[in-house]
Amino acid sequence: MRNKSVVTEARQIQLAIDLVNLGARLQVLEAETSLSRERLLKLYKEVKGVSPPKGMLPFSTDWFMSWQPNIHSSLFIDIYRFFGRNARLTGIEAIVRAYRLYLEHVEVNQLECVLSLTRAWSLIRFLDAKMLTTVPCTECGGHFVVHAMDLHRGYVCGLCNVPSRAGKTRQAAANAAAESLHMPAALVTAARVAAKPLRIHQPA
Ligand SMILES: [Zn+2]
Repeated sequence: MRNKSVVTEARQIQLAIDLVNLGARLQVLEAETSLSRERLLKLYKEVKGVSPPKGMLPFSTDWFMSWQPNIHSSLFIDIYRFFGRNARLTGIEAIVRAYRLYLEHVEVNQLECVLSLTRAWSLIRFLDAKMLTTVPCTECGGHFVVHAMDLHRGYVCGLCNVPSRAGKTRQAAANAAAESLHMPAALVTAARVAAKPLRIHQPA
């Protein structure tokens, strides 16, 4: 038993180090490990060389609804669910694995890293709390993050319907995102979107 508790503690410390390295806020460490706040503070400083930022996590569900965050969050959820289905991973382990893959994906495709580990973690909590959910886009079939309480009939995602105020930069970003979001299964459809011209709604 004694050995087991040492192993458990070692795992907890490793998890905390991984989370800090991935950019997690202290609140995430406190929620996901059984280590004391003092130890986590010390560990954070040791790994990062600075104290963790103070204050509450400012995140509301609305952030996930804006255009770019929504696409990145939907991509993350897809990877996260992939791990759940295929590797039977759950909880923080699935979040860490999915987030690493998300970072890899962003880097390979030279996209901006929009979703932080802490936001990815919050996203899963909002989904678990049924404040957010995902619905399939009626155009491309990819699954996208939405408010659970809203009506979603005929939902069209931000890749199929780039906001009219988008302009060239946003359209280019949409194309790049659509092209790159094909790795996880459900967003294969996004690649199909890239193959056909994006419908840009110009103001009359
Ligand atoms: Zn779509």
